[in-house]
Amino acid sequence: TIGMIVVGPGGQIYAGASTNGATHKIPGRVGDSPIPGAGAYADNEVGAAVATGDGDIMMRFLPALVAVEGLRAGRTPTEAAEVSMQRIVRHYRDFSGALVVVDRFGNYGAACVGMEKFPYSVVNGDATQKTRVEYTYC
Ligand code: ASP
Repeated sequence: TIGMIVVGPGGQIYAGASTNGATHKIPGRVGDSPIPGAGAYADNEVGAAVATGDGDIMMRFLPALVAVEGLRAGRTPTEAAEVSMQRIVRHYRDFSGALVVVDRFGNYGAACVGMEKFPYSVVNGDATQKTRVEYTYC
């Protein structure tokens, strides 16, 4: 899955996700990526989130929406990502997935479960700026 969040200069926030799905998926499987709130969610008032991982589980918990609502409740991006992931883990201990969360000011964070670490790319400013890879450890 590729998830992307953009905070535009005018304050407009965009989020999207694209995926090749899950291994051995059944024909017609939808997964989480195209479902607003599951694979991605954005709200100009607070920020956005994108998800990757076991989509058959995530589409039942709307982790991107839960993370954005966490921002609205005053959590940092990292806290919002962690709380959203933990809500799933409470029900599915073997769950594997990750969330990247950005608030409307461009502060960002991530959380992951079921893996050692999760890499994500960050770029600030215009297209002349270098992209750097950051890691969150699970
Ligand atoms: N979330 C995707 C899906 O279940 C898979 C992935 O993130 O790699 O379709």
